Formats: sequence, C-alpha cells, structure tokens
Amino acid sequence: MGYASLANAAPYTKNWHSEVRMQHKVLIIEDETDINRLLSEILKADGYLPVQAYSGTEGLLLAERESPDLILLDLMLPGLSGEALLGKLRTEKHCTAPVLVLSAKGSLQDKVGLLRMGADDYITKPFEPEEVSARVVAALRRGGSVPEQGKVWSYKNLRLCQESRKVTVNGAELSLTAHEYELLLLFLQAPEKVYSRENLYELVWRSGYYGENNTVNVHVSNLRKKIKEADPKNEYIRTVYGIGFQLK
Ligand code: CA
Repeated sequence: MGYASLANAAPYTKNWHSEVRMQHKVLIIEDETDINRLLSEILKADGYLPVQAYSGTEGLLLAERESPDLILLDLMLPGLSGEALLGKLRTEKHCTAPVLVLSAKGSLQDKVGLLRMGADDYITKPFEPEEVSARVVAALRRGGSVPEQGKVWSYKNLRLCQESRKVTVNGAELSLTAHEYELLLLFLQAPEKVYSRENLYELVWRSGYYGENNTVNVHVSNLRKKIKEADPKNEYIRTVYGIGFQLK
C-alpha cells in the first residue's frame, strides 16, 4: 500500500468538521447591554454574523444551537459565570470554537489559568473597536476558520490545522514529532477506520513492514501521552484488540 491511499480516506462527518465558511458566526456572551450592542455593531461592520446572549445560561444554549465560529465571553455574568461556562463548553459540550475572554482591566488575575481552561485570548475592557477587530481575525485564523488557512480537523477538544501543521488541545499547542503528527492526521481523516500496525507503518514510515516491530506502538503511545497531558478527561485513540488502532 502506498502513500497515495491517504488521499482516498473517505470524508466523514460524525465527530469532526473541517471549517471553511465565508461568513463567520460570532457569539457574544455579555450581560451589559451597551457593551453587547457595541460588540455586535463592530462585528457586523466587519462582515461577521453576531449572535447575542445576555447571560451564561443563554450563552451555553446558543453555543450549542448556533455552532458559532468564535465566542466572545464576558467573565462576570449573572447565573453561570464565564469561567464555569468556558469549562462546560470545553469538557461537556466538546465545543472547539475559539473563545476570546472579555474582562475589566485588572480583574484578569489568572490569564494563564484561563488560557489553560481553553480560552484562546482575552480583551480587556474598556476596548477600542480596532482591537476587537484585530483579535477576532487573529483568533479565527488560529482556529483555522479563515478559508485560506486550509483544512482544519476538529475532534473533541483537539484541532489540527493542515496548513500550519499546528495541533492544539483545549487551546494549548502540542509539540508533536513528524511521525506523531502524521499518525494523528490519518486517524482524523478516517475516524471509523481501524488501522492495523502494518497499515500505519507503511503509511507513515513509507516503507515495508517487517514483522515484529514496536515502532508504531511506541509512537501511538507517545502521541496518546501528549494528548492526555492536555486533556486528561477524554480518550482519543482506541486500541482495537488484535487489530490495531482507531480514533475513539
Ligand atoms: Ca458582565
């Protein structure tokens, strides 16, 4: 089997989506109506489609129903706080849209914690419209939602951008070897397929498989370890007993 078979992996739409959209939908979750309206106007002027939510609960509902490409999230919200909402989006809802946190200057005490929780960036209030525009473009680019960025694969909390070869889990970038990257891409391209060790060896190392060889196991195990460190709660690669591996 040659490398060409990579290109034949059938498209499949159950657990991942590759995003190439012309008009991006941006969900604003902000309880202060003036700020919410201002953000909505800035986004509209830039050609985005804003969706407005005024509480954490409403935000969660709309994040699920509207599948936004980007979320602007205030932290101080009535009911469900921004932090709690972010946690739910990333763990329970498997939402991989980039999240820009909005917060008053000085109240962002734990920026690193927020980024680790899955926020992509933050904007401090008061903000200038130009700053919002720039951060939105940057976040969509990083998230791979801008068409020229090429194909982006999302699965659970993981995102792989083929053009930049960047892999993030919960917003944190993984440092993968070339072989680990190629293994992961194979799994994402055909999520239903069970790959034998022989398959994987031939596709990734591009040479004949010679019997007892632990190479594939070692690399799959390292890949799993790296993903697990970034997302301890989810499984991504399943061992299919006696056969090989599959996306889980
Ligand atoms: Ca608020």
